[in-house]
Amino acid sequence: MGFKINTIRNDFPILSTKVNGKQLVYFDNGATTHKPLQVIDRVSDYYKTENSNVHRASYNLSHIATDLYENSRKFVAKFINANSYREIIFTKGTTESVNLVASGFSDLITEGDEVIITVMEHHSNFVPWQQLCKKNKATLRFLPVLKDGTIDLSELEDMINFKTKLISITHISNVLGTINPVKKISEIAHNNGIPVFVDGAQAIAHTNVDVSDIDCDFYCFSGHKAYGPMGIGVLYGKEEWLNKLSPYQYGGEMISSVNFESTIFNELPYKFEAGTPNVAGALGMEASLRYIQDIGMDNIIKYEDTLLKYATKKLENIKGLRIIGNAKSKIPVISINIEGLHPFDIGTLLDQMGIAIRTGNHCAQPLMEALKLPGTLRVSLALYNTKDEIDLFADALAKAVDMLT
Ligand code: PMP
Repeated sequence: MGFKINTIRNDFPILSTKVNGKQLVYFDNGATTHKPLQVIDRVSDYYKTENSNVHRASYNLSHIATDLYENSRKFVAKFINANSYREIIFTKGTTESVNLVASGFSDLITEGDEVIITVMEHHSNFVPWQQLCKKNKATLRFLPVLKDGTIDLSELEDMINFKTKLISITHISNVLGTINPVKKISEIAHNNGIPVFVDGAQAIAHTNVDVSDIDCDFYCFSGHKAYGPMGIGVLYGKEEWLNKLSPYQYGGEMISSVNFESTIFNELPYKFEAGTPNVAGALGMEASLRYIQDIGMDNIIKYEDTLLKYATKKLENIKGLRIIGNAKSKIPVISINIEGLHPFDIGTLLDQMGIAIRTGNHCAQPLMEALKLPGTLRVSLALYNTKDEIDLFADALAKAVDMLT
């Protein structure tokens, strides 16, 4: 399909929405992306012609739904280059994926053990480990973030010791845009016999994800941040690790057999999928990943990088503006601080000008604390954004700054 911006924009009906009488400029893709017709139609077609519960019945429609659902799983496995469909668990999203693994590790992490995360984690990859460590009297340690928004791998090596039981890190920061060297981190961790969990919420739509190449033990993402539906996501885990973890929830689907005394759990991946799954969500997510694949991730990376460079340059001219996070390797997520102004006030004015942009701590309060900032103004771009939109935004921002100073 290649990269044709006008064709792409036409795929997303919501982009023609007007806000306050102005053309919508949507720059909050880090929170969620919009959905192309290919995804909307896939979900709608499922409910129109294929809806049925999966894995349960002997009738034709149920077989169709089961095959579609399982084919989505196989597609995801291929998309992220997992070894097997057994390593792909459908979840509600990144948050549930982290909680699932943290719940399983509750049996494996005991008093005196250590878990390492970074200061730049989203609360989703922060609070589950914090609570696990509190409950089990383990210690949660934080790899600092350097001034440019990167981490120092030699500092990570210094933090690792015989008590370290897990390293969990975001692939890409939702605040700084930094792409972390997760392959190198896995190598360091594995040299020390430590498993690695990677939060790929911000990565899946913006970079190639190859879990075999990264060699992480767990990887997760949400469909809705990659042009797919809300309420569906993925947990990838190496079979060896998934077999070690206890089920996250109990009920139907996750059992092999039940009697009055005991239960034998189902095999992977079903052991972790209790209850009726989000079949339409899985099919919609498959459609969104196919959409990305058809355009080509390398084309997306190239295009988004031109947007990042263009926006960074354009913003330099705005009075008192500082960009937080200047890693060489980053996606088009630009966090902005404007001297003397509160991000919320600017965000409110921008909204009146039709520009949807995130303000606040971006679910990364510890990072804000470390940066000594109340929050930032965050531009997060996607494959359907344009330089014209960046121009509109930069003009609107300059106007808002003038009005507030
Ligand atoms: N991790 C990161 C890095 C994120 O950006 C987000 C969403 N902002 C999450 C985790 C949580 O994702 P979800 O709300 O889809 O579970």
